[in-house]
Amino acid sequence: MPDGKTLGFAFAKLDRKAVERVDPSWVDQQRADPASRFVCFCGDRPVIDVSASDLQVARFTRQQAANLGCDGEPVLLGAEETGDTLFALQTREDDISTTLNEAHKLIDLRSLATQGSLPPHELGILAQARSLLHWHERHGFCAVCGAPTQMAEAGYRRHCDACNGDHFPRTDPVVIIVIIKEGRCLLGRSPNFIEGMYSALAGFMEPGETMEDAARREVFEEAGIRVGKVDYLLSQPWPFPSSLMIGLIGEALNDDIVMDAQELEDVRWFELAELKQMLSGDHTDGLKMPMQMAIAHHLVLEAIRRLS
Ligand SMILES: [Zn+2]
Repeated sequence: MPDGKTLGFAFAKLDRKAVERVDPSWVDQQRADPASRFVCFCGDRPVIDVSASDLQVARFTRQQAANLGCDGEPVLLGAEETGDTLFALQTREDDISTTLNEAHKLIDLRSLATQGSLPPHELGILAQARSLLHWHERHGFCAVCGAPTQMAEAGYRRHCDACNGDHFPRTDPVVIIVIIKEGRCLLGRSPNFIEGMYSALAGFMEPGETMEDAARREVFEEAGIRVGKVDYLLSQPWPFPSSLMIGLIGEALNDDIVMDAQELEDVRWFELAELKQMLSGDHTDGLKMPMQMAIAHHLVLEAIRRLS
């Protein structure tokens, strides 16, 4: 099984304080505690501390955060290993680049992940923060009765006083699967991939499906391949805005591809030797694999292990 140690967004070490956060007085006390720190976002860009060679997420006092326009109701991320509590806030400003001092910079979350410039633990903090903040931004009104909702449990629930309804932050499961058959591995490419990149097939799960059923449906829709045995390998939070990538490996029952041209630009079988060239970056036609921070990379490594 892959260990996924280089996987982006997957290794937050915060204690989420799930028991304590249901108590409003505990939450108020933590928000007011001078030792508590606040992570600030401007859209998809968190504020990063660039003062040392090892970048890290900037941790502000509540007043410093307020000075950046982050003066709303903070969502709880959890307690750090030091015991100090960490919250997240979104600024109400369109851009705070010019307000930041030279030790701080706004950096796009996708770039941080793809460039591997933050340790996995720090990326994990940002994944949690971005998904939660995004959900609150879009759920200010009750989906049942339309009345305004209020944040509860430090950000892990919104309550509607008008109909007494509760709403919880969503996570959208996505199945992502590498298919193997007789020494070969099935990968596809979307029109929006960078040039030469092939990756695992993926799609959102639908209500009432198991993850195995969802994966079999997606692969048949996109490539015309029927899938038999499906194994779960590992998962990855994907905060754009709130997916959970469920990594699978499946065994094909047929090998004649019928591509869905609406979804894919190409889908094909790759021999083992070609997969290894793609991973090492010396494929003769310049074909590439997703990088180590992406779950697809680890699924292909496992496929190679099983095919070898
Ligand atoms: Zn309501």
